[in-house]
Amino acid sequence: MDHFDYRDRTLFCEDVPVPELAEKYGTPLYVYSEAALVANLNEVQTAFRDANPVICYSVKANGNLSICRLMGQHGSGFDVTSQGEFQRALKAGPAAAKVVFAGVGKTDSEIEFALKNGVFLFDVESEQELHAIGAVAQKLGVKADVALRVNPDLPPKTHVKTDTSVKGVKFGLDIETIVDVAKGVVGHPGLSVVGLHMHLGSPILKADPYRMGAEKGLGLIKQFRAQGHDIKYLNMGGGFGINYRKDEAKPASAFADVILPVVKESGCQLILEPGRFIVGNAAVLLSRVVFTKSTGGKHYVIQDAAMNDLIRPTLYGSFHRIWPVAPAAGVPVTPDVNGDPDDPQPFREMPNCFKQDVVGPVCESGDYLAKDRPLPGLTRGDLLAVFSAGAYGMTMSSNYNSRCRAAEVLVSGRTHRLIRRRETFADLVACEEDCLT
Ligand SMILES: *Cc1c(COP(=O)(O)O)cnc(C)c1O
Repeated sequence: MDHFDYRDRTLFCEDVPVPELAEKYGTPLYVYSEAALVANLNEVQTAFRDANPVICYSVKANGNLSICRLMGQHGSGFDVTSQGEFQRALKAGPAAAKVVFAGVGKTDSEIEFALKNGVFLFDVESEQELHAIGAVAQKLGVKADVALRVNPDLPPKTHVKTDTSVKGVKFGLDIETIVDVAKGVVGHPGLSVVGLHMHLGSPILKADPYRMGAEKGLGLIKQFRAQGHDIKYLNMGGGFGINYRKDEAKPASAFADVILPVVKESGCQLILEPGRFIVGNAAVLLSRVVFTKSTGGKHYVIQDAAMNDLIRPTLYGSFHRIWPVAPAAGVPVTPDVNGDPDDPQPFREMPNCFKQDVVGPVCESGDYLAKDRPLPGLTRGDLLAVFSAGAYGMTMSSNYNSRCRAAEVLVSGRTHRLIRRRETFADLVACEEDCLT
């Protein structure tokens, strides 16, 4: 738990006791550690420093403006998948020179926006998109720098909904036809094909897919160059896994070990797009127990965070550690999680615990954060920490059931500040109220 640990039976984020944050800002609350964010970015920068890479933080993992600004201040560029994310990157600071733009459905107006705002590279996902970018660039009288995104067709490596480099997903250009697509734009007046891109999926717990992907990429780069394209960049995307359970993930250096030799051989500059690795374990979602009940042979903890705040368990069956912020006497101080990610029994036997479903107030049976999870007995008002909630948490949140989105707080040492205020009912209806007749 990066920068989140228990002292005297109370959870701290850096040097701040977490209950203090719940008191001040209310729940549900996303709590981020600035030290963890910077340390995780630094781990990637250090592991890959021999290649002097362009690191582009993936805004879709967590687009909070203060977090984006922090990334920019520490030398990161940005990976975006929409104009909205591009605008977040621009607001974060003067790093626009390092915005890479991926996504299968960029519209002409998004392409134009990106070109006018100094996009560093488009990651191109189809032949039609390539020609659309060329046409918009010509209209503006500029040349667009593009990297072709390949689907390297590797064996399955993560959850089916988040694997982006197997046959049968919408991402990238087929490895069988990408060379022909590249051939079709040799000498195009609006396009410079300067890179190869791949993003394998996420989260990835082994280095091997990166080695296989990079090696396939090297073969393609040679063919593009033979066609006359001046290939300068190899973009290996994001996807580095994190410890959701215990220690199932790899350090950044394990990925560097397999990627760096290929980058060296290619003579390209390396680009990386880490998201989850930087922000995933830099936050907890804090919630408060509203009620408990036992029904149909099951025990439920009903707390005030729901699928609209953190949808990963509902959407992907994802595992998040959950533990009381202040465990009672006789209860272990931290969740003792098995290290094996394939172990169907996520927890060891734990004293004074029994299996409970952690659910929210939303009117869906799919509204849960954990099922059959050994937890100690809880009472109304107890605080829970949902760990590893920083990536694809707040960015995937919604207003379903007319719930106001949670607030976000950034902790640094002994200090803390709001980086997104809690939504109000006025925010919820702002787009409708003027339309009332
Ligand atoms: C989502 C995404 C990323 C980031 O993935 P993480 O698992 O958060 O590191 C990087 N590149 C592209 C193209 C993406 O779509």
